[in-house]
Amino acid sequence: MLLIPKKIPFLQEIRDPLFARKEIRFLIKREDVIHPQISGNKWHKLKYNLEEAKSTGHDTLLTFGGSYSNHIYAMAAAAKEVGFACIGVIRGEPVVPLNPTLQFAVKAGMRLHFVTREKYRVKTEASFIADLKQKFGPFYLIPEGGTNQLAVKGATEIIDESMGTFDYICCPVGTGGTIAGIVCGLHGRSKVIGFPVLKGDFLGAEVKKLVKEYSDRFYHNWYLMQQYHFGGYAKFTRKLIHFINAFREQHSIALDPVYTGKMMYGIFDQIRKGFFKKGSKIIAIHTGGLQGIAGFNERFGELLI
Ligand SMILES: *Cc1c(COP(=O)(O)O)cnc(C)c1O
Repeated sequence: MLLIPKKIPFLQEIRDPLFARKEIRFLIKREDVIHPQISGNKWHKLKYNLEEAKSTGHDTLLTFGGSYSNHIYAMAAAAKEVGFACIGVIRGEPVVPLNPTLQFAVKAGMRLHFVTREKYRVKTEASFIADLKQKFGPFYLIPEGGTNQLAVKGATEIIDESMGTFDYICCPVGTGGTIAGIVCGLHGRSKVIGFPVLKGDFLGAEVKKLVKEYSDRFYHNWYLMQQYHFGGYAKFTRKLIHFINAFREQHSIALDPVYTGKMMYGIFDQIRKGFFKKGSKIIAIHTGGLQGIAGFNERFGELLI
């Protein structure tokens, strides 16, 4: 195995008067502890991609991301740890000094290549990839957000045997690779509730496609809760910030403002509104992403503790 977990993720029960009142048991699967830099779902999504890159004789990885991307951060750390050269194709113009995410990536040895938003939009086109090969030589390509079939395979391993006995498994959704893996790993057990952090209905079709490609099945035990994106990746409200800070103070668990904070806010809201059946047992996947807090605070003022 190329990527070694630094710590084994575990289930942690969270107690709150709200759960008692609603007769709900709530646990967090602490995937955020798996590695200090390659955190949470990104560790799982990269695991088999790195093995594939190695076994096909590549020494260089290339991927895409926004300038605050958890995926870029994790890729830079993973490439360094496993011994690949790594190129990050970054959306937009460089801003100097670089933000904390990109500073880390450069320090880890990632070569940054900034492209305009227009160019970034066509990044999956063959001619664009051919230009990159021309410029950088051969590389193993990992898509934006790290999502492909090997990432789905890795994400199935977020599920272990005990988790199938829970009523609901909740996770945040960006590109859909992680929830697809979770659905496939459960083989029809439990109900998976995804919390998309992007606006729009395209994600349902994307998750369906990823699940079908991996498992050759259409599972129906999953659902996307569409009302907690707060407007998109970098969007937030005072209420969300207050919730994330209060959660950290109360439970000593940090949440990131882009993914896990929004999911957790949505779970609490839906428990209050009675979406989850009385007597049910819920697991929320802490997918990590805590590197994002530094960049968020730098950008918006020190809002998060
Ligand atoms: C990338 C990321 C996600 C989204 O994962 P997808 O597989 O793209 O849906 C969720 N949570 C965190 C913390 C992430 O970094």
